[in-house]
Amino acid sequence: MTQETGGFAALDLNPNIVAAVLATGYEEPSAIQQQSIPIILAGHDMIGQAQTGTGKTAAFALPILNKIDVSKREPQALILAPTRELALQVATAFETYAKQMPGVNVVAVYGGAPMGPQLRAIRNGAQIVVATPGRLCDHLRRDEKVLSTVQYLVLDEADEMLKLGFMDDLEVIFKAIPESRQTVLFSATLPSSIRSIAERHLREPKHVKIQSKTQTVTAIDQAHLMVHADQKIPAVLRLLEVEEFDALIAFVRTKQATLDLASALEAKGYKAAALNGDIAQNQRERVIDSLKDGRLDIVVATDVAARGLDVPRITHVFNVDMPYDPESYVHRIGRTGRAGREGRALLLVTPRERRMLQVIERVTGQKVAEARLPNAQAVLDARIKKLTNSLAPLVADAEASHGDLLDRLTEALGCSPRALASALLRKATNGQALDLASVEREQPLVPTYTPRERGERTERAERPDRGDRERRAPMPLAEGRVRCRTALGARDGIAAKNLLGAILNEGGLARDAIGRIQVRDSFSLIELPEEGLERLLSKLKDTRVAGKQLKLRRYRED
Ligand code: AMP
Repeated sequence: MTQETGGFAALDLNPNIVAAVLATGYEEPSAIQQQSIPIILAGHDMIGQAQTGTGKTAAFALPILNKIDVSKREPQALILAPTRELALQVATAFETYAKQMPGVNVVAVYGGAPMGPQLRAIRNGAQIVVATPGRLCDHLRRDEKVLSTVQYLVLDEADEMLKLGFMDDLEVIFKAIPESRQTVLFSATLPSSIRSIAERHLREPKHVKIQSKTQTVTAIDQAHLMVHADQKIPAVLRLLEVEEFDALIAFVRTKQATLDLASALEAKGYKAAALNGDIAQNQRERVIDSLKDGRLDIVVATDVAARGLDVPRITHVFNVDMPYDPESYVHRIGRTGRAGREGRALLLVTPRERRMLQVIERVTGQKVAEARLPNAQAVLDARIKKLTNSLAPLVADAEASHGDLLDRLTEALGCSPRALASALLRKATNGQALDLASVEREQPLVPTYTPRERGERTERAERPDRGDRERRAPMPLAEGRVRCRTALGARDGIAAKNLLGAILNEGGLARDAIGRIQVRDSFSLIELPEEGLERLLSKLKDTRVAGKQLKLRRYRED
């Protein structure tokens, strides 16, 4: 479908940038991109009101890449972000979009990492610097000229930067950049403090805001679940176990994501297919027809590819990736609840996207309740229910047709009818886990947050980037796991594999009993089974890693 590629191609961006964006799997610019890119390309200052999830990073990264002069090896663009996580995320986005622009160098500058290499990277020709304000000011104190060549300045999540107390640092940074610069400010909200910064430091800025009209949604039962991005596929697989759906459409953002999810679903035996902008028109029609007549039950689609798809069998919409704006959410979930039927819409939300969820709730005027992932018991109950339903029509007349055979076989095998029925069940269910322990073993629980945990974790995630404290959000723990801490970290020359090796060898645990290992500079966290923890810790009492005592302790987060 060429009109989609036309979406990016029509934006007047360098073809190498468009090629990289399309290779990333984006099919068309989001609303904020559509509006911001021409303004930034034209050299205007801009205020963009947008939150995470709208595609705001590409909205400034693409035009900035377009503007920098690759032959000049000096800082030209500075992006300020409130947290180290966001700075790293933005730097990675720049690198992705610059994949086909040789000679572009991006450096991320944040606290907690040594200053020397960061300063060297800036001086050695990085054209794009993505920084947290605190650490950047430390650099300015060492070298006040370090930003003197910057021409483009972006303040990303400006409201968050102010909330985290970076106002003074921002003023110092503004002073260190030539006044002739172009300045772009993105913020989810525009309180008076932000407007005052804009008045003082931006020149006749253009405003971009994604206008949202109130939309009504009826007859659709909506819920959301908090999950980390890397847990979306297991979360979907688990949800599908218990959701009673007829046909389902799962929305994702990129072509690659349609392929990844569709193949994970097929591997689990679902009749699923991907629908994306690369799929030829006749194949697309075949997929839609198959969904209509039941040869397919799940279609994994991008917004573009799902345009015009109207299949009354659809009972469920899974928003696996967040839509870019509330309108598209309403549009997506409108695929279900057709013809007066009840529909169900589930939305997966990563912790950073919670604001987008609030915007959706405001625009639709409805609360989207928080759901929890089904536990192993619920999965088991659902499986047994399905099995019961599939056997129900068979039992009515099976005895008349096969009763005599059963008698003959039990006699020949010398076993009870119960033993024989059990063997037949085992065969018929084809190795599917149908007892609690097996279900638990089969799929490690994908944890969700409770609202209380969520608040705490996101606060931690957005802690200002100062000093070498633990500043990343702890990942949610799987059920039955606890986190343990050792004072050994990267500065002791420790890598995750050293810790893993030591615990496997000396603790006698199976590999899958050990969860995530996070190695920080001055400590490490390891997820271990709660059951038998005391015994394990005492086994590891004298263990040494990289010549130092491990001294593993249970780590309490609150
Ligand atoms: P952001 O709002 O910048 O944090 O972006 C949210 C997510 O949307 C990121 O994972 C991006 O990779 C993705 N994204 C941004 N623009 C597009 C697009 N035009 N098409 C598909 N995905 C996109």
